[in-house]
Amino acid sequence: MKCSRGYVLSQSKGLEGKRALITGSTSGIGLAIARAMRAEGAEIVLNGFGDADEITALTDELGATHNGANLLDPAAIEAMMAEVGPLDILVNNAGMQHVAPVDEFPTDKWDAIIALNLTAPFHTTRLAVPAMKEKGWGRIINTASAHSLTASPFKSAYNASKHGIAGFTKTVALELAQTGVTANCISPGYVWTPLIEGQIPDTMEARGLSRDEVINDVLLAKQPTKKFVQPDEVGALAVFLCREEAGNVTGANWSIDGGWTAE
Ligand code: NAD
Repeated sequence: MKCSRGYVLSQSKGLEGKRALITGSTSGIGLAIARAMRAEGAEIVLNGFGDADEITALTDELGATHNGANLLDPAAIEAMMAEVGPLDILVNNAGMQHVAPVDEFPTDKWDAIIALNLTAPFHTTRLAVPAMKEKGWGRIINTASAHSLTASPFKSAYNASKHGIAGFTKTVALELAQTGVTANCISPGYVWTPLIEGQIPDTMEARGLSRDEVINDVLLAKQPTKKFVQPDEVGALAVFLCREEAGNVTGANWSIDGGWTAE
């Protein structure tokens, strides 16, 4: 069906002919976004670490290429962006977490979290934007977090990086508002991925709790739905933001958090 502006609504694969780089897409949310975009016909470039055989299985599954750049290293990001070439869709998703009181927070962890969660998206964005502007079409999606809108104790670097990426996204959206390129954040609550599993032991230690107490009384305590967000739900939202119908959605921070930030 065509609407008055000529969009074809929900008939064809909406992302055919689009080339998408999703950082941190060998696992968790990034992989779910890659799968969702591939299902809509996008050509996928994966990035992230992992076992070589598992990455080959993913590139086979998705008909994708993989670039294993370490996004902590700006020179590696520049090399990746040069190798990948012009993009239609950039998803800045790779991220890391560390849980510790601020006065005990390891300074190398602080630097790494800011570098991966905030500085890497700056580099990929600045390098992707010229080709998007030239084409007059582009989608930049940053996986932020409910922690871009609110805070939790013991996550100083993560909260700072995610509040930072939300501000960065708004600025990019405003700068590109008349170019056909949109920039938005997706802000999940707790999604059951290796990142969440990995922080359970540190949270147990920082708060003196059992594993079950961390899951039920810390993680899901935040989410009124009492359910973890599913990675494919985040994938579906990312696909929507890439559609023509989302051309006027820019500078937004989309919560997908079971109602967490409504409280
Ligand atoms: P994950 O640990 O499952 O995946 C992280 C991905 O990033 C992996 O592919 C990993 O290889 C890659 N990666 C890590 N360090 C890298 C580096 N230096 N260079 C390149 N790639 C690197 O994590 P996830 O839970 O899927 O998280 C993805 C994003 O979603 C992160 O930005 C995270 O902050 C955000 N997020 C997650 C949740 C959650 O509940 N899981 C909630 C809100 C936001």
